[in-house]
Amino acid sequence: MHLPGAEGYLRIENVRKEFDGFVALDEITLSIRKGEIFALLGGSGCGKSTLLRCLGGFEHPTAGHIFLDGQALNGLPPYERPINMMFQSYALFPHMTVEQNIAFGLKQDRMSRADIARRVEEMLALVQLNKLARRKPHQLSGGQQQRVALARSLAKGPKLLLLDEPMGALDKKLRTLMQLELVSIIEKTGVTCVMVTHDQEEAMTMATRIALMDAGRIRQVGPPDEIYEQPATRFAASFVGSVNMIDAVIDQDEPEFVTLRSPQLETAIYIGHGISGFEGQQVSFAVRPEKLGIGKDEPAQAHNKARGVIEDIAYFGSHSVYHVKLATGFTIMANFANVQRWASEGMTWGDTVWVWWGDNDGVVLTQ
Ligand code: ATP
Repeated sequence: MHLPGAEGYLRIENVRKEFDGFVALDEITLSIRKGEIFALLGGSGCGKSTLLRCLGGFEHPTAGHIFLDGQALNGLPPYERPINMMFQSYALFPHMTVEQNIAFGLKQDRMSRADIARRVEEMLALVQLNKLARRKPHQLSGGQQQRVALARSLAKGPKLLLLDEPMGALDKKLRTLMQLELVSIIEKTGVTCVMVTHDQEEAMTMATRIALMDAGRIRQVGPPDEIYEQPATRFAASFVGSVNMIDAVIDQDEPEFVTLRSPQLETAIYIGHGISGFEGQQVSFAVRPEKLGIGKDEPAQAHNKARGVIEDIAYFGSHSVYHVKLATGFTIMANFANVQRWASEGMTWGDTVWVWWGDNDGVVLTQ
């Protein structure tokens, strides 16, 4: 949900965080819109939790500023911020019922009994737990516990909701269900949300935009499809999804097309549009396995194809990933969608096959 004029609702400006000289966050600048679900995605130790903790007030930046809805947050303790954080463990009070858990923060704020009852009712309806209001956390499933935690986080109507690895405690199947459910609940309330995850699928499913982090820095910010289809760097292309990363040199650099030479391929790589580069420049050509075709017959095209031997097949149900060893020694991955049962029966280990891709199917990366 993008409200008009909501640009920069949460502004993080030049935030730096050092721990005893170690730079955990380095010049982080981000502008997050009202109503966005914004994901901080990155590997272990990249600084995503530190940034989330700086937003929540559990850590304080060494330098830089954070503004929420025009208000400077620097120096404010967590309880004075209009922010709520849902922890990975949910941190539900085990001795309290669902409704008591949801009411907890409201009671602390000395809200009247009638207002608390009304608000708890609203929250129970939002997460569809009215029937389980009297249960205690140990009498709930993992998904139900998560909904209680979410209801409790939203009860006070925070301006910003922080989610720390929200699906961390759930198994894979439940995760997928809960990801969509959480998004639908969050969108209903219109709350702005920043979530931390190391799981790219989770970020792609839930977020309106993703900030990809590495070593305390933001490497790329964009909507999920842009991060996936137009990675700006080798790091981004490799971190999100699987990719064939091919070393190459720019051979012809024309306004309308570019060709690349690669020691890993016998034919040239042809790209059907111009890029900002120069002839002789070392680049990487990144093409995702699902963009490749694979089959026994040689394709008609002159470029963007290679012949090799199937050395491995990984079966994923919906598709199989073929690892094809080329004459150059490079192994390229090509996905084959299993749209029909046994459709790929014709291709097996040791078979010689062709792989190919289209003129606009890959990206040229210069950094
Ligand atoms: P993970 O997914 O493993 O939780 P992360 O991206 O959330 O990783 P952070 O917890 O933000 O990583 O930590 C970033 C870096 O800062 C790490 O190298 C970590 O060791 C360091 N760090 C975090 N908190 C402290 C602290 N209180 N004192 C010293 N170093 C810290």
